[in-house]
Amino acid sequence: MLNEILGATARSEDIGTRTAAGDAPARPGWTAPAKPASGDPVADLREAILAKLAYAIGKTPETARERDWFAATALALRDRIVDACMDGRSTSIPNKRVYYLSLEFLIGRLLSDAMNNLGLVDTTRRALRDLGIELGDVEAAEPDAALGNGGLGRLAACFMESMASLSIPAIGYGIRYDHGLFKQSLEDGWQKEAPETWLAEGNPWEFVRPEATYTIGFGGHVTMSAISDGVIRRHWHPAETVRAVAHDVPVVGWRGKHVNTLRLWKAEANSPLELAQFNGGDHVGAVAARSKVEAISRVLYPSDSSESGQELRLRQEYFFTSASLQDLVSRHVAERGDLRSLPDHAAIQLNDTHPAIAVPELMRILLEDHGLAWEDAWHITTHTLSYTNHTLLPEALETWPVELMERLLPRHMQIIYLINWMHLEEQGRHGRADAAQLASVSLIDEANGKRVRMGHLAFLGARRVNGVSALHTDLMRSTVFKDLHALDTDKIVNKTNGITFRRWFHNCNPELTKLAVEVVGERVLDDPEALLGLADYAADSAFQARYAAMRTSRKEALAKVVAENSGIVVDPSALFDTQIKRIHEYKRQLLNVIETVALYQAIKAEPHKDWTPRVKIFGGKAAPSYVQAKLIIKLACDVAKLVNSDPDIAGRLKVVFLPNYRVSLAEAIIPGSDLSEQISTAGMEASGTGNMKLALNGALTVGTLDGANIEIRDHVGADNIFIFGLDAAGVQKRAAEPDYAARAIAASPRLSAALDFIEAGGFSPEERGRFQPIVDDLRHNDRYLLTVDFDDYWRVQREIDAAWIDKASWWKKAILNTARMAWFSSDRSMREYADDIWRVKVG
Ligand SMILES: *Cc1c(COP(=O)(O)O)cnc(C)c1O
Repeated sequence: MLNEILGATARSEDIGTRTAAGDAPARPGWTAPAKPASGDPVADLREAILAKLAYAIGKTPETARERDWFAATALALRDRIVDACMDGRSTSIPNKRVYYLSLEFLIGRLLSDAMNNLGLVDTTRRALRDLGIELGDVEAAEPDAALGNGGLGRLAACFMESMASLSIPAIGYGIRYDHGLFKQSLEDGWQKEAPETWLAEGNPWEFVRPEATYTIGFGGHVTMSAISDGVIRRHWHPAETVRAVAHDVPVVGWRGKHVNTLRLWKAEANSPLELAQFNGGDHVGAVAARSKVEAISRVLYPSDSSESGQELRLRQEYFFTSASLQDLVSRHVAERGDLRSLPDHAAIQLNDTHPAIAVPELMRILLEDHGLAWEDAWHITTHTLSYTNHTLLPEALETWPVELMERLLPRHMQIIYLINWMHLEEQGRHGRADAAQLASVSLIDEANGKRVRMGHLAFLGARRVNGVSALHTDLMRSTVFKDLHALDTDKIVNKTNGITFRRWFHNCNPELTKLAVEVVGERVLDDPEALLGLADYAADSAFQARYAAMRTSRKEALAKVVAENSGIVVDPSALFDTQIKRIHEYKRQLLNVIETVALYQAIKAEPHKDWTPRVKIFGGKAAPSYVQAKLIIKLACDVAKLVNSDPDIAGRLKVVFLPNYRVSLAEAIIPGSDLSEQISTAGMEASGTGNMKLALNGALTVGTLDGANIEIRDHVGADNIFIFGLDAAGVQKRAAEPDYAARAIAASPRLSAALDFIEAGGFSPEERGRFQPIVDDLRHNDRYLLTVDFDDYWRVQREIDAAWIDKASWWKKAILNTARMAWFSSDRSMREYADDIWRVKVG
């Protein structure tokens, strides 16, 4: 890993230096250049930061802005990360590496991660304080690296951190988008999107690696030639090419024991401008081609579990997949010589189908660039790749039109056809020639104008295919992949998601971490299972008081964030009820909003009753083209406006929609939350990870039996979670009944009254019909069975109101949640992947 961090990139010229296959050549050693050291860590870091400020940023302490201090601090810490590569580890080549391919890495800020994992939080705080600078201000000056939409991208970031912490040699591969996920603002309750500009002032964490540049082709045609033994070879002649340039971000693991690399590709044109054209006076035209090519890494697609992509999206997918495979193949050749041993030394994980083009691309590289026979290439491919599925929603299963694939990737389309032909032939040989069954396992969906099914492609090319929670994996086997599963029943395995405790516990909630360390000892920082020791104190009133005090202080901090971001004043003694995640109909924010409306009506009807004070906190972005999701945000904001200002409510119900939900905002909201809303339609949320972050921090879950909620219930205990609604089988059954929504509404006076009020313009007097599309959909369609689950959701919410009053019982449940969430550490997920899927040694 060291040489990777330091820029030694295997390249094809190195092939000549290889030793016998399987026998890795030794790399030259490296020693850190001597640095002046006073023996005082605070003084040393302070001087290092000052030196960076002067020599790397060109500023004096007097002229430095917070952002400059951040860059200087990050650069000083980056040096320590490079040094950490040295300590206690050899510079030899690891026997096997994991390559994690993901179109998204939703990283957030890196400074607190780096400081915490290097054990330098206090040292940095004191070094900066010596200089009259507050660490908190410096941390706040770091822009979030938002190279992802939501759960899928955040999972990739958690996995990278965990692999580094477990010393699993790994390289993450993705795209270095100029612009990450859009910035969300609310204008009169309507979502507005603005471009995100995290790179505007550079990125102090990254190393640019111009020497690791690969050429990526698009379009063109394929020719054939016969080679001596009569075998026909094909050659792809792309019409256009673009260069992928590596940018490396070091990922330091817990206690600085191991450092991995996140390698992000930037698209660059072959030549910056057409000089002849420029000299001819066409100054704009001379750079137009460059601008088109470089659009590939310009911006993250802001869609999440929805809508099919555009051509540029396919270009992004192929661009980063091809660059990554070329990189890892040339590294393997340089280190090991023979590509036949690739499966022994490389495990490639495809995060969703976005890199599924890896299947034909690896085949192409092996066949064309390295002259392997088809059978050998297929063996290598299917023993190196594995695929993680993230959704079963039909609209989110990726397919590409054959016509587009033929135009953009003609050679890959040929390979896909050949894979499919052999796959379908084999079915015939096994006597499975039933037309419907063949159509269901084919790589080509013929029903919708001929499209390539990327999930099927990834399935066939993978050694293992995994779901991300027990329920989701079962549903994979019984629904979308049913027929493919029948052909190879060992292929699908479950790997329930996890979260890194370093970010979602230690860094975001130092007070709770301190409490845990005091009670169960330091080892809790290294072994989350030690958290179980907290369970012994769950009913201890002295410990409960300390736990409650921790929560109060986090809620006061959150109340400040709420006031700053929304202008709404909330009372930290109220129940803080949180739903933070992408806005999507299947996640059912609308169920929560309509329950809020019903609660508002109930308080209005009986204003003198003893209502449990609640603050409903919402956060989340809607895909810019997702009209219904944006209307749900507007409804939440309009409900907030009326409810928050109604004197009858007297502050007992407050509604807040916090704009621009992102990792750093999540870190502020989660420790201050009492209740975690995980209310998706059962069978639709593959896993969820927000549910884990909140439960770990002691929020009680109100949820359906969906995704990882089921496993959370199994761990925390049914008494310590609030479950409601239909389960996945119940949803399937009910959805098949005619008029289920109309009947559910007719059976629920409370739901009817809430819908009538919305429909009558109760929250939009200036535009009565504003929310008609929402009400109409619920009355006549309701694909997400909100109406069916409504009454049970209302029931469980009133149960929660009552539970909140009994504080001793509430805190006991909360403490048991924290104590019993250890299993949901992404360290556990990564160990399982390492053992079952990658077969790579941990540590
Ligand atoms: C964890 C996280 C998510 C995923 O949340 P879910 O509730 O699992 O959908 C999305 N966005 C951010 C910023 C996160 O931190």
